Amino acid sequence: MECMNIKGGCYCGAIRYEFEGDVTASFQCHCRECQYITGGHANPVYVLPQDKFTFVKGSPATFSRTDLTEPVKRFFCADCGTPLGSISPKRPEAFILKVGTTDEPKKWTPQFALFTCDMQPFQNLPDNVPSFEKRPQPPSQ
Ligand SMILES: [Zn+2]
Ligand SMILES: [Zn+2]
Repeated sequence: MECMNIKGGCYCGAIRYEFEGDVTASFQCHCRECQYITGGHANPVYVLPQDKFTFVKGSPATFSRTDLTEPVKRFFCADCGTPLGSISPKRPEAFILKVGTTDEPKKWTPQFALFTCDMQPFQNLPDNVPSFEKRPQPPSQ
C-alpha cells in the first residue's frame, strides 16, 4: 500500500509515536472485542510493519487476557487510558494502530470492513468497500 508518515499519541500527551513506511492495510473492525475499546462503534485501524513503528515519548502499558490461549496484546496510556493499538498473535509482525490516536485521523480511509458477524444495528459500513463476516481469506499459497 501507500507509503505514509504517521505521528500521534495518547489524549494526555504522555505517549507519542511515529511511523514511516508502507502501510500494510487500513480497515475497520466490527468485532465484539473492539466494541469495548471504541465505545461501541467500529474500530478504524492501520496495520503497520512493527519495525517501522516507534514509541518516541513515554512507554505504553500493556494488557493481555490470561484466560485466552492466543490473547491480543493491547497497548494503552497508563495515565489517561487511551487505547493506542495492539499486536495480534495472528499478525505478530504488525502493529495495529488506532486511527483516533493519530494527529490527522482524516487521512485514513478504509479498504474493507471485517467481523460484520458482530455488527450492532447502530453501526455503519463504509461505502464502496468490501465487507467480510469474519476475516478476508488470505490468498492461497
Ligand atoms: Zn495519556
Ligand atoms: Zn475487532
